[in-house]
Amino acid sequence: MTDTTALDFAVTRNLAAASPAQRAQLLEDPGFGTVFTDHMVDICWSEKGGWHRPRVQPYGPISLSPAAAVLHYAQEIFEGLKAYRHADGGIYSFRPEQNALRLQRSARRLAMPELPVEYFLQSLRELIAVDGAWVPEGEGQTLYLRPFMFAKEAFLGVRPAHKYAYYLIASPAGSYFTGGVKPVSIWLSENYARAAKGGTGAAKTGGNYAASLLPQSEAYEQGCDQVVFLDADGNIEELGGMNIVFVKKDGTLVTPASETILDGITRNSLLELAEARGHAVERRAVSLREWREGVASGDIAEVFACGTAAVVTPIGALKGAGFDDAQPIGELGLSLRQELTDIQYGRREDTRGWLT
Ligand code: PMP
Repeated sequence: MTDTTALDFAVTRNLAAASPAQRAQLLEDPGFGTVFTDHMVDICWSEKGGWHRPRVQPYGPISLSPAAAVLHYAQEIFEGLKAYRHADGGIYSFRPEQNALRLQRSARRLAMPELPVEYFLQSLRELIAVDGAWVPEGEGQTLYLRPFMFAKEAFLGVRPAHKYAYYLIASPAGSYFTGGVKPVSIWLSENYARAAKGGTGAAKTGGNYAASLLPQSEAYEQGCDQVVFLDADGNIEELGGMNIVFVKKDGTLVTPASETILDGITRNSLLELAEARGHAVERRAVSLREWREGVASGDIAEVFACGTAAVVTPIGALKGAGFDDAQPIGELGLSLRQELTDIQYGRREDTRGWLT
């Protein structure tokens, strides 16, 4: 996996870094996505210089030309993963090379340069080296890592930019299920699509999320927590930020196979754990009809959503225009969740080499 020699990062310490007492206070109840650590990483890319000027610097505003291509044509991609603190104090990330490879796939689709896997992993190590104290110790808490890359060339022509920046920022995150696990209700979006065949659905790019905001508001208006998208043929795709898995009454796990959804690392990991327990796994098209009829007949025993943020969230209701189907609540999703989080937090042996 070492496709390049290591970068030599220039480190500028943040002189206004939070004091241990301030940090401890912020880590008490960090919520999600509003508190940031003291530093960030950035690496530049240009046609001439390739990847260059790797830096660790104080977290702060980025200066950008108003003509930067990303602000006009949305040439942007990102990733999301977590760092976990183990009981022995060690800090681990979960399958980070999978995020590195997915960032490369997103880059190819958005006509951007690919960040070598080794640089991605090095950026995580460099940030943790200066901001490791920000990885919380509390039950279910993590340091959320957000790598992203965008076109920074000042040019208004529509073509792939000639200059890019890769950044890594980090944000402590509280336990997702503070009040216990609560099943979510899902709104079936039929007025809006998230991605089309041949589009950017499989890439982790900002535009997909921008397109999901209006349907997500529709879900809230309908009293639902999340939205699920269909493809043009009426097959289930995914939620705005999570994949979906159906558990049949015979224990088979079925999940949509589609070129227009994000290939979730949580989903792949949960399905691997389920297979190791002897469950059959099917990756194939699942129609809305199969879902609704399966629940009505009892053939579907459980439905859950999965992703880095919440790991596994049971789905308790599916609501759409003219229907509101209660969903059966099962045990498998939460049991797989327990096994996966035990591995992530070092409470169970990592036999697959998933931790770095
Ligand atoms: N689908 C979408 C649209 C997402 O944004 C995410 C979160 N990254 C997922 C699925 C789940 O992917 P992962 O398990 O890698 O977090």
